[in-house]
Amino acid sequence: MGPDLLISDLHLSQERPFITDRFRAFLNDQAAAARTLYILGDLFDYWVGDDELRAPGADPLASGVVAALQALARGGTAVFVMQGNRDFLLGSGFFSACGALPLADPSIADVGGVRTLLMHGDTLCTDDLDYMAWRSKARSAAWQADFLAAPLDERRGRSRALRLESEARKRTKSMAIMDVSPDAVREVFRRHKVTRLIHGHTHRPGRHELEIDGQRCERWVLPDWYQSGGYLRAEDGTARLIDLSPAAR
Ligand code: MN
Repeated sequence: MGPDLLISDLHLSQERPFITDRFRAFLNDQAAAARTLYILGDLFDYWVGDDELRAPGADPLASGVVAALQALARGGTAVFVMQGNRDFLLGSGFFSACGALPLADPSIADVGGVRTLLMHGDTLCTDDLDYMAWRSKARSAAWQADFLAAPLDERRGRSRALRLESEARKRTKSMAIMDVSPDAVREVFRRHKVTRLIHGHTHRPGRHELEIDGQRCERWVLPDWYQSGGYLRAEDGTARLIDLSPAAR
């Protein structure tokens, strides 16, 4: 059967080829022995449309990652991919090419024997009003249809401009605003009647215990892959975070 593994926030990009290498090694090693691999958003640093896989001048990183995921899925590991705030345009072309299944945000799944709520995490950052406004715009059918109608090169340029703008705005925001809202966290535990939540996005890996309506609950935050990378391994009712940095071995 094997364990269930969870990762997020790899932000794969040609700017960080060593992270793509580490991800490929992880797929061949740990993920190949797993029952399920859950990718909870921001696998790619940006995704401007599924034609990135086949258009002239397509990004070889994208097609290389798709081929690696396809090999994993063919080897018998179930692969689920959730869209993040960077790669929310991953579409049916991507999913059919790689053999992964789309995972809605939020979703509930049996993860290592525990009924678990899975999210990317950005929707928990409800104090970041500026981001929440942008999110609802970018997830609208009208915005996406307009964006996807532009030529590939123009979309890459617009995406780069949006990332720079977002980085500039982040520098003016406090750390608390960019973390999850405790109220939003309690609300999703209650609404989905779960005692475990796993998400990424905030790049603050860890395990948080909380008590909700007299029940012990746990919230796991997955690490990003900017420097080292890591994953959550869930099996037989327990879970642990594992660092993939060479120093941790
Ligand atoms: Mn994110």
